[in-house]
Amino acid sequence: MIKCQDISYSYDGIHTDLDELSYSINQGEWLGIIGPNGSGKSTFLNILCGLFKPSKGNVMLDGEFVTNMSNKQIAKKIAVLSQQNSYTYSYEVKETVKLGRLAHSNSFFPSWSTIDETAVNNAMMMTGTEKMEKSFINEISGGERQRVFLAQCFAQETPYIFLDEPSNHLDLMHTIKILDVLKELQKQENKTIVTVFHDLNLASLYCDRLLGLKDGKIYIEGNTDSVLSEDLLKGLYDTSFQILDNPETNKKVIIYKSNVL
Ligand code: ADP
Ligand code: MG
Repeated sequence: MIKCQDISYSYDGIHTDLDELSYSINQGEWLGIIGPNGSGKSTFLNILCGLFKPSKGNVMLDGEFVTNMSNKQIAKKIAVLSQQNSYTYSYEVKETVKLGRLAHSNSFFPSWSTIDETAVNNAMMMTGTEKMEKSFINEISGGERQRVFLAQCFAQETPYIFLDEPSNHLDLMHTIKILDVLKELQKQENKTIVTVFHDLNLASLYCDRLLGLKDGKIYIEGNTDSVLSEDLLKGLYDTSFQILDNPETNKKVIIYKSNVL
């Protein structure tokens, strides 16, 4: 379980980018974070996984203060896909995925076991990256690169998986494929999944609960169906949507509306 209490964050020490946010994420659930650009979604995710230190408040991960945990201790629990993935070197695809296993290496000179090899191969199968293992990550497409970084997260084999806009650059087939993999991991291995989504239909299909941020504060929170209401979404995005029920899936369908058509 992750529990954060009264966390605030400011990038410049003057403006408040996250404002006294308290929230809990339960084991085995899939939380979707939604909200307009600049509302604090990425900042919140980075604080939850200890990448950013809050200026106020604290985060507890399975009963321990995240600020008291080493990077390696956190990496054994949480795999994170950031919104902007940096790659300084032109690693090969498989070498990049292998970096996900660093969290599990015990010595300064890491050994490579069959467990590591299996985890990497499985992660590459899950993301459809196995055929490009020898390609260089700076010589593949944006969507392919996104799948390589997703594979790195899966190879880490952590109980918590945090993905900031996982479907960025992905075509529709790969989007569904990756989100289905995550759903299976949630159902079969009780993984806790947190994803930032812009596509509300994907949020509707996959998430158990939604957290809507606006101006660095919690604007709405609740189970997915209750959050996906026309009034609440209009307030969150200052844009109108039409919401229908899909009787086949029992999920809400969000229809986008144009202001000019
Ligand atoms: P979101 O992910 O919801 O689009 P962010 O968490 O990235 O939003 O940003 C929240 C707020 O913090 C925004 O107002 C943004 O301008 C500000 N911010 C984000 N990153 C930086 C940064 N590196 N330096 C200064 N301000 C930043
Ligand atoms: Mg963001």
